[in-house]
Parts: sequence; C-alpha cells; structure tokens
Amino acid sequence: MTAYKFDPHSLKAEEFINDEEIRETLAYAEAHKNDFPLIDSILEKARPVKKGKGCVCAGLTHREASVLLACEDKERIARMFDIAEEIKLAFYGNRIVIFAPLYLSNYCVNGCVYCPYHLKNKHIARKKLTQDEVRDEVIALQDMGHKRLAIEAGEDPVNNPIEYILDCINTIYSVKHKNGAIRRVNVNIAATTVENYRRLKEAGIGTYILFQETYHKESYEQLHPTGPKHNYAYHTEAMDRAMEGGIDDVGLGVLFGLELYKYEFAGLIMHAEHLEAVHGVGPHTISVPRIKHADDIDPSAFDNSISDEIFEKITACIRLAVPYTGMIVSTRETEEVRSKLLRCGVSQVSGGSRTSVGGYAGYSPDERPHDTEQFDVSDQRSLDEVVRWLMENGHIPSFCTACYREGRTGDRFMSLCKSGQILNCCHPNALMTLCEYLEDYASPETKRIGLEVIDRELARIPNEKVREIAREHIEAIRNDNARDFRF
Ligand code: SF4
Ligand code: SF4
Repeated sequence: MTAYKFDPHSLKAEEFINDEEIRETLAYAEAHKNDFPLIDSILEKARPVKKGKGCVCAGLTHREASVLLACEDKERIARMFDIAEEIKLAFYGNRIVIFAPLYLSNYCVNGCVYCPYHLKNKHIARKKLTQDEVRDEVIALQDMGHKRLAIEAGEDPVNNPIEYILDCINTIYSVKHKNGAIRRVNVNIAATTVENYRRLKEAGIGTYILFQETYHKESYEQLHPTGPKHNYAYHTEAMDRAMEGGIDDVGLGVLFGLELYKYEFAGLIMHAEHLEAVHGVGPHTISVPRIKHADDIDPSAFDNSISDEIFEKITACIRLAVPYTGMIVSTRETEEVRSKLLRCGVSQVSGGSRTSVGGYAGYSPDERPHDTEQFDVSDQRSLDEVVRWLMENGHIPSFCTACYREGRTGDRFMSLCKSGQILNCCHPNALMTLCEYLEDYASPETKRIGLEVIDRELARIPNEKVREIAREHIEAIRNDNARDFRF
C-alpha cells in the first residue's frame, strides 16, 4: 500500500505533483524499460484511431509515458517518433503556427539563478517600455508580419503592476498599422491572484503561459532562493487560479536542464492530468525550453543539461502523452534542432524573435541589441527566412488566430480538436493567413514559393464548399486587399 497522498483532483500542489509518486513512476519506468510487450502495448495505445470524420487518441498516463521515455531500444524509439508525427498530422495537419515574444520589462524582484533578470544582477540594464514604445514595438512586429504575440515581463509589483500589463495589452490590440494587426496576445507573467487573472481575461488575452521551471520542490526552492517566486505551491497552483479567473487556455513548460529530465517529464504530464481532472480540459500548450547562455548565466553551471537526442525523445513522448495539446519550440533552439522537433509533434514556433526589452523597433533584421537580452537566440533568422524554411520543409506557416476570436477556447476548442473537426478550420485558415503574409510582407522569393504552396494545398481541402470559399477569400486577399477572413 502506498503511504503517500497522490491525487490529480487535489488542488494542493504537493498532492497533484507528488514527489513519491514521481519517484515510484521513475522506478517503475526503469524496471520496465526493456519490457517490450508492455512498451509495444503503450505505443499501440498512443496511436491515433479513425473515428467518424476525424481521429481520436487515447493519450498516455504519466507512468506509461515515463516507460517510453526510459526505453532505449532504437527501433521502438523510431516508432515513437513516427507516432508523434502521425498524431501531429492527424490533429494539426502540416501547418505550423507562428508567433513572436514581446519583452515589456526586465525589472524583477525574484532571484531565479538561471535568469539574468534576477534582482541581484546589478550590471544588466533595466528597462520598461512606455506605452509609446510598446506601440513602436508592435508596429515593428506588424511590419514583419506577426499576428500573434507572447508578452513577457519580470515580476515587480512596483514597476510592472498588473495595471501596467493591462495597459500594454490594450495598446497592443489598439495598434492598426497598414494591413497589420495583432490578433492574439498570449501572456507570460508571474503567478498572480484569481482577481488579476480575471482582469487579464477581461483584457482579451489568449493563453496564459507560466513555466514551472522545475517540478522538483527542493530544487525549485534552491533555484528560486528569494522573492515571491520562491513559494513552490503558489507557483505550481497558478494554473488553477488562472482557470478559476476564467482563463480557458493555459500553457505549461519546464526549463529542461535544471533538474533530471525524467523527473521533469513525469511532473509535466502529471500537471496536465491534474488540469484535465479538475477543469475538464488539459493544457492548451506545452513549451519545451532548454537552459541557454545569457548575461551572467553559464548553462554549464547546471549539470542536468540534455543532449539533442534526449530532447527530441522528450518532445515525442510529450506528443504521445497529450495528443491534443499544442507544442511550442522557441528560437532558443537552432534551426537544425527545430527542424527535428517539427517532426516530433511541435505545432508552434517563434520567428524573428528578440529576447530583449525594446528589441524590435529601430533595428534592421540582422541587428539585435544584447543589453537586456533574457537569453541568447540560437535561431537568428528573419521571419521571412523562417516562413520560407517551413514551406521548403513541407509545412504551412500559419498566422491563424481564429479559434480564440471565434470563442473556440478551453473545452470548446478541445472538443473540436478531439473530434478531428479542427482540421476543417485550421488548414484553410492557415492558407488564408499565409496569403495575407505573402501579399503584405514576404520577399519576392518567399512569395513565389508561398503562392505555389497555397495552390497545391487548396486542392487538398476535402470539403468542396470549404475549398471554394477559401479560394474566393484568397482571391479577395490578393486582388481586393481584403483581410481577416476565417473559418
Ligand atoms: S525567470 Fe522570470 S521571475 Fe525569474 S528572474 Fe527571470 S524574469 Fe524574474
Ligand atoms: S483554427 Fe484554431 S486551432 Fe486551428 S490554427 Fe487557427 S487558431 Fe489554431
């Protein structure tokens, strides 16, 4: 009999992310890593199955997924990658959603030892955008072609109170420059109160993103020695408060490299199970960041760094465990790693990113300020290059924000996704928003490739009526300067 209390329905961090349950899970996974009949049955369970017009996927428990992660058999690892790609194609098609981060302020009262914005870093420049500067950044981002942003700010109740964040969101949505518009603002700010989450919801945010950093409580407390973020329970229970405040879509993530990856992986899947158990809807997205070099941060000081191969396997196993959750990889990773991760189930990437405060306006595409950077950007290509690269690799770059704007969030989004219906919206929406990008922002070569992609992909829309409407809208985008169509 287990003496500990593990309960996905509990609202207490230490009960839904239970240390002993994770340790038992890891021991079970280690004991079964060569149990091929068990591994084969888990792989079989993970596969998408046709149902009606769509597909369904059973997903995996944290124990099952941990067994896959422990498995070292080459042939079975190859099958994990194949199934991850199969799931991605079944639910998300070949489109990849694009976004950019927008850093508002690097003032922070926390002491996170892996982040250069920590309070004790006295030599990094501190900067907070004024509303005029936010406007300038948004215009620069619109001029690149972005429609979807993730705003980032340190935790500082004096410099970055919730009112400041709300003002910035209003400013971002209000800027309409040429044909540009930011249509979805996701928010990555510190854990806060139900009341503040309610205010963010009212301001019209998309996903609330908060990385757990590490699920290992003891390490968490050491890595966050000072400031409000030191409180493990308050941080870990943030998504429950966000959902109580009315935010339907929440985004999880751990910073791989801080703790042992198998521990983090089990914790991450348990967190997803908890959200499903309590709120009836799992995380909207999971991000997979790895620790990177930055101002006074040396990644080699953290001895849990993982190889590219392990990183790819983690990504594939997440895809199998939570098939309906979008997966995000940022420009922390190189082009080569991003290419591989796109084959393991990743559905969103950032492009042309700057990770400093005020890093967009006034800089040419190959110029980037480093004074306030949160981490080094490995993929330094422009958005145009990223868009072209995606298309050359068989993906459709998508600037779609339709679900959020049509109210398809939370369980409404998940039920559409689970029934496979989302494919009837995503594919044509990707083509229409790509067409907008090509007309307004692309280089001649990217435009040429893109228009061929659109032609080819339009013919693949199975429903004749949808195909015709999408074709008409694309004609209108190209010939009449019409914008913002969506299914
Ligand atoms: S990770 Fe976030 S909370 Fe921690 S120091 Fe950096 S900005 Fe502040
Ligand atoms: S239709 Fe919805 S799920 Fe599909 S790409 Fe657009 S916003 Fe995402």
